Amino acid sequence: MTAEFSGRRVVVLGLGSFGGGVGAVRFLSAAGAFVTVCDQKPADALEGSLRQIADCSNVSLRLGGHSESDLAGADLVVASPALRPDHPLVQHVRSLGIPITSEIALFVERCRGRLLCVTGSNGKSTTTAMLHHILARSGRRTWLGGNIGKSLLPHVHQIQPTDDVVLELSSFQLADLDRIHFRPHVAVVTNLTPNHLDWHDSLDNYRAAKQTIVRWQQADDVAVLNADDPDVRDWPTQARRVYFGAGVLPGEGLPLSDANWPFAQWLKVPGRHNQMNAAAASLAALAVGVSRADIEASLRSYQALPHRLEFVGDLNGRHCYNDSIATTPESTIVALESFTQPIILLAGGYDKGIDLTAMAHAAASRTKAIVLMGQTGPAILKAINERGDPTPAAVPAKSFPEALAAAWQLSAPGDVILLSPGCASYDWFRNFEDRGQQFRDWVRQSQQQQQQ
Ligand code: ADP
Repeated sequence: MTAEFSGRRVVVLGLGSFGGGVGAVRFLSAAGAFVTVCDQKPADALEGSLRQIADCSNVSLRLGGHSESDLAGADLVVASPALRPDHPLVQHVRSLGIPITSEIALFVERCRGRLLCVTGSNGKSTTTAMLHHILARSGRRTWLGGNIGKSLLPHVHQIQPTDDVVLELSSFQLADLDRIHFRPHVAVVTNLTPNHLDWHDSLDNYRAAKQTIVRWQQADDVAVLNADDPDVRDWPTQARRVYFGAGVLPGEGLPLSDANWPFAQWLKVPGRHNQMNAAAASLAALAVGVSRADIEASLRSYQALPHRLEFVGDLNGRHCYNDSIATTPESTIVALESFTQPIILLAGGYDKGIDLTAMAHAAASRTKAIVLMGQTGPAILKAINERGDPTPAAVPAKSFPEALAAAWQLSAPGDVILLSPGCASYDWFRNFEDRGQQFRDWVRQSQQQQQQ
């Protein structure tokens, strides 16, 4: 343990609920710093994170608002990736000449292991989890962290040079890593679609932040890129480029049609998008010397992350999938494209004012029946009816138990019952995890009742 933080006054700006703030506080407190935690949210909104730092010494809290006076005398500020560089407090820190960094930068600067990093607009967590599973199952000492919800910073001194470290990186995290010319040994980019433009202002800024993952790589590093994404395909890098997708040219990487790599056969998780994620993870694993046989065995045993097209069980021959994380219409369209069986879809939820027409049309053409939930139920029903073609049964429900009962009644053996709402959950549920958990509970309870 170095003495670099001992007795130093460090302000953690933004504790948050995603693990980064907690990781920074735990690391700095253990390193002997005096830590001030500032967050505009009040204590009750940060309960989970506060519990995780309750045992840390020399930590003081300033919750329910930020103020410039909290920064006086600080030697270092660790800012949450949610704070934009033009946030007034961040600008104030700069004007005082206080160095400013982030949890992820503190980590990668000190990490001695080999870094394999994943970014993209969609599929980050899945690809990261697949890659971690492949490396861990191949007998390597492997760590998993970053935006996937776990900070590795408190463990950074336990990570050995021979260890592999798999990180999911968000565009916000990458925006700060540019400053330190961050260079992962393997960088994976799943795809790029306009996202988070409220934070980045423009697609160009968002892309520039994401491109940090390959920008500082050297010739002995590897960039794993999506051949089918015309934007990502041409991203500039010094690294050796390998490609995955349908449009991979001979010798460029891993075409999805390669008979030696039947991802669709190996994977339990459905959908072409997951085959793309698996191909990306496979190329990253190959780049660090894992064999094809080991990759195949690992992908065969890969289990879906919770709430992401997660198979929860069979119910008298109906296959039940929990895709509660689908809070956008695009995610539900991807889910609908993942099955060949007849689908009973549970869709709808909290109204964020997003146009649901494309999702309603995809649902109408791909499902046997749709059960409509929440505030957006009527809008989805209207879009389905306006379409004019013969439409599947569309049944509005007034509560989740009513929706589940309707889904059951409309289904037959061999069907898929799919919870993929395409909307946020806040009208009927605490959050998407709560929604997914209630679906799981229903499947388990129904299974038990049928066994009695
Ligand atoms: P992220 O971490 O980037 O949010 P996840 O792996 O958690 O991505 O997947 C979230 C949702 O994104 C999935 O439920 C699915 O709808 C969609 N998705 C996953 N992988 C892809 C992909 N490769 N291309 C397009 N959409 C995808």
